[in-house]
Amino acid sequence: MNTCRIETPRTCAEASALLQALPDARVLAGGTDVVVRLKDQLIWPPLVEISRLAELHGMTEVDGWLRLGALSTWTEIERAALTARHADVLVEAAREVGSPQIRNRGTLGGNVANASPAGDSLPALIVLDAELELRGTQSTRRVAVAQFCCAPGKTVLAHDELIVAIWVPVRAGWRGAFVRLGQRAALAISKVSVAVRVLRADGIVQDSRITLGAVAPTVLRVPEAEAVLRGQRLSAAVMQAAAEVVCAAARPITDIRSNEPYRRAMCGELLQRALARLAEPTNPSDPSDPSDPSDKIT
Ligand SMILES: Cc1cc2nc3c(=O)[nH]c(=O)nc-3n(C[C@H](O)[C@H](O)[C@H](O)COP(=O)(O)OP(=O)(O)OC[C@H]3O[C@@H](n4cnc5c(N)ncnc54)[C@H](O)[C@@H]3O)c2cc1C
Repeated sequence: MNTCRIETPRTCAEASALLQALPDARVLAGGTDVVVRLKDQLIWPPLVEISRLAELHGMTEVDGWLRLGALSTWTEIERAALTARHADVLVEAAREVGSPQIRNRGTLGGNVANASPAGDSLPALIVLDAELELRGTQSTRRVAVAQFCCAPGKTVLAHDELIVAIWVPVRAGWRGAFVRLGQRAALAISKVSVAVRVLRADGIVQDSRITLGAVAPTVLRVPEAEAVLRGQRLSAAVMQAAAEVVCAAARPITDIRSNEPYRRAMCGELLQRALARLAEPTNPSDPSDPSDPSDKIT
């Protein structure tokens, strides 16, 4: 009889050992996904509740990386100075999630582990080239977020492993934007989301990352659209050309939230909105700002 069984380990080693000993157990973090699924009787206890694991809390900068504990909540991500400085695109994604209550409880690790194609952290973390620290009974390993999800709800995480932290490389000069479309502004899962990061020098794109959420079984990175931006100013024509490429690359489906043609068209529209924001000068009075005021969509 395990209907109410909740384990509360104090260390990562204890948590992994419990998971190994309990093949049906689920990890419980903020519970904003797990509790809904328990209520709908899609999953059952035992649960391994991880809120007491100190290593999964907190944010620090270490050796050129930003380390986000897996239990960092969306609210913490939204408010922290370190994320504002090094993970702008993730902060924008955090602002879009659910509602204040969901952002106060829901965690970054839980969103990643969920592996939903519509999960808002994943497009943002992939354009940041983020990596996951996974720890099991035998070892600790690092996996790129881009390699973590294999299919909706499926990941490379072993049953005894926890996501301990999310590591974001600290890179100067990059700016990012996250734009999503839902049924309404709050409490709606993304129909389409776009994350972009660009590095510019004198207004010219040196490098970029573009990802699409909710339009394929896993988040899509679109290197062909990144190639369109490389060596260019963010002019209306260049943004339009990149938008056409992402529309062609998307592999959306029709489901209860939206339909295939609309989702495909919105990939281009959201990319143009994100790029238009990045084309704006961060500080128009600063002559060293690399943005070119002529770069805006007209
Ligand atoms: C009303 C509502 C609105 C929502 N809106 C959005 C939204 O706008 N955007 C969005 O992306 N999501 C949304 N969600 C989904 C959810 O809130 C997020 O995915 C949240 O970040 C999940 O975090 P959690 O800590 O609550 O995860 P939990 O529910 O505790 O866990 C989720 C899954 O991850 C596993 N897990 C959790 N932490 C770890 C870990 N450290 N290591 C290994 N496995 C782990 C759990 O076993 C479970 O399978 C919404 C949910 C609700 C109920």
